Amino acid sequence: MNQLTNDECRELAERLGICWHTVEKKRNHEHLPPDVIYYCELCETHLPERELMKHTNPNFLDPVVVLREMRKREDWPEFVEQIGDTIFRDGELATLIDVDYIDDTGLLAKAALDLLRNLTKGEDDG
Ligand SMILES: [Zn+2]
Repeated sequence: MNQLTNDECRELAERLGICWHTVEKKRNHEHLPPDVIYYCELCETHLPERELMKHTNPNFLDPVVVLREMRKREDWPEFVEQIGDTIFRDGELATLIDVDYIDDTGLLAKAALDLLRNLTKGEDDG
């Protein structure tokens, strides 16, 4: 099984509307606090050094991270259809996910990428 690549990870973040921070150390400027030396051009975030470790990109190799982001989306039901099922149990709807997706190679991230790529297929082609 091929592990999710860094490029795929970044693509998924972009398709989810999450900034894939490209943080660069930069020369200090007068208008910035003296401890701010890192900057992400994409989301225009200035960072003090102490914040750098918190300003990391999502690790989509972790299926929980993928689920957390995908659940926020309107097309979550479509994603569930792709990776599992929704059942009625004890009077309530329950979401089942194939445990094969709970791995450490990013299989769930790839499934999410498939769905998101398909959604924008028309746009990308046109
Ligand atoms: Zn950023």
